[in-house]
Amino acid sequence: MHALRWHAKDELRLDEVGAPATPRPGQAVIAVSYCGICGTDLHEVAHGPNLIRPGAHPLTGTKPPITLGHEMSGTVLALGSPAPGIEVGTRVAVDPCLRCGVCRWCRRGEYHICAKGGSVGLASDGGFASHATVPAEGLVPIPDGVSDEHAALAEPLAVGLHAVRRAAVQPGDNVLLLGAGPIGVAALLAAKLAGAAGIYVSEPVPARARTAAELGATEVYDPAAADVRREVFLRTGRIGPDVVVEATGRPELVRLAVTTVRRGGRAVLCGISGAEASLPITQIVPFERTVVGSLGYNYDIPRVLDLMAAGRLDAAPLLTGVRPLSAGVDAFAELAADRGSHLKILLEPGRP
Ligand SMILES: [Zn+2]
Ligand SMILES: [Zn+2]
Repeated sequence: MHALRWHAKDELRLDEVGAPATPRPGQAVIAVSYCGICGTDLHEVAHGPNLIRPGAHPLTGTKPPITLGHEMSGTVLALGSPAPGIEVGTRVAVDPCLRCGVCRWCRRGEYHICAKGGSVGLASDGGFASHATVPAEGLVPIPDGVSDEHAALAEPLAVGLHAVRRAAVQPGDNVLLLGAGPIGVAALLAAKLAGAAGIYVSEPVPARARTAAELGATEVYDPAAADVRREVFLRTGRIGPDVVVEATGRPELVRLAVTTVRRGGRAVLCGISGAEASLPITQIVPFERTVVGSLGYNYDIPRVLDLMAAGRLDAAPLLTGVRPLSAGVDAFAELAADRGSHLKILLEPGRP
């Protein structure tokens, strides 16, 4: 089969690889229907290795070259051991978190911050191939009425939902989102579901700003043209937003999030980067602001699929392109050249 593999920085190749081995107990092999290209994948190609380990990953033993792709849906082809509610032929989305199962955090159900954790598609071969071997505990049956295409979007949507849950957004809250890329848009949709009264968005790329407005943002600001902190302060009756979600990982925006949220409010950081942000202590302690990290998802993918099945969450606005796997290298290049032109491109390994 063909697989889109990360060999090194700036080295992404469509390789011929062997079919996956018979799954071990606790594993499943799925036929991949769709798998989304994530900002994390682009970052590994442009600046990596970042989350990819140069040597063998301690949990999986996998080392590069590695098949990327962690946002996938598909059909179960083989199970290494019985899995409750899952059979060969079940349509599934995949929670790609790899976990040890025995560390303090895994035992608490916080598998997403497992001490040895990693992700399918970064620490083991992922979904940019016709078949993928994944942990059976990460399989989530796709409800009837939800397409495989939309199910592949459950992963990025879950990142936004998790951030909004970490933010403890309450009905009637005012929320400021910094960045309207895929995760920012996912957080916008989740904030709406949580009952936010005002959703303010800062986004410099016009196409992304338009999407945020179409999806119901109260106001969208171009940070190059507007003083976002002041505008939102005025729009919220000189109080400030109850919650700020930072979805870019840029240090100046981390600082903006912390200094913009209202007294006693929560700044949730879900954008990852290797940068350091300096935060004024006098902006945190005297105002009792809370700074919260939010990583990926923790049982959020089933929630997203249930919301889709109930007709309360439409994944369609996130999806801006579907390409065959053979066009994967070009799709990466296109996204790297112009991040604003797309929200999410799915690769379809089954299509020639
Ligand atoms: Zn991702
Ligand atoms: Zn663990």
